[in-house]
Amino acid sequence: MATDTPDRHFHVVIPCAGSGSRASIGTPKQYALLNGIPMVVHALRSFQGVKGLGQSVLVVAPDDSAMVDVLKQWPQPDFFVSHTGGATRAQSVLAGLNALKAKGVGPDEWVLVHDAARCLLTPELIEKLLLACFVDKVGGLLALPLPDTLKSESNGRVHTTLDRTAKWLAQTPQMFRLDMLRHALMSAGDSVTDEASAMEMSGLSPLLVPSAAFNFKVTYAEDVQMAQAILADRSQSTIAPT
Ligand code: C5P
Repeated sequence: MATDTPDRHFHVVIPCAGSGSRASIGTPKQYALLNGIPMVVHALRSFQGVKGLGQSVLVVAPDDSAMVDVLKQWPQPDFFVSHTGGATRAQSVLAGLNALKAKGVGPDEWVLVHDAARCLLTPELIEKLLLACFVDKVGGLLALPLPDTLKSESNGRVHTTLDRTAKWLAQTPQMFRLDMLRHALMSAGDSVTDEASAMEMSGLSPLLVPSAAFNFKVTYAEDVQMAQAILADRSQSTIAPT
């Protein structure tokens, strides 16, 4: 099985250079405290102990001084900080991939790109993605079949109802080989909002790996309460009864 082979190995890129302008929870959201711990630390903790985790990078804005302090307080030995974030998510991810390459990560090695704001990710979901993608030629992403009816809007009113058949919500992590993703991002340009789109523009079909609704991206103010409740529930369930 792929998991038992010695080459089971992966790296992680966490783009963290956004200003959080779409969020209504204050900026930048990766530093918002959830149950007293920064959101980004919760996201990083989900990778702790996953077998095969190699050198990994947090990409922050060039003028970011907060991440280094956060990692002093909540150390994450597998992650280094790169102050190379760009104007778009695609630029920040590309900078992270280049930082891994500069550290000696090989062109065919697997990289998982993950949003800091998906702070409820679990080792079990990471494992599911790894198992599905290690044996795949292209790679893939965690995603969820669309549960709701989908509308397009015009001036605050419904323009039309879109067919939801075969529609999925793309999540992260998204897992591809280092150089395939670098080249895809370089040719796709800045408009792509996830890595899979860049691969698609290169003519490839990433694998959809069924995920869970709890792996949502903390974006709106009410998401913070929901995320805190789930985190509190998880920590309760790990406390052994006396
Ligand atoms: O805005 P959105 O929620 O889609 O951002 C997803 C991730 O991309 C966030 O973790 C954000 O910090 C990151 N990002 C980045 N550089 C940018 C814009 C967004 O690293 N220029």
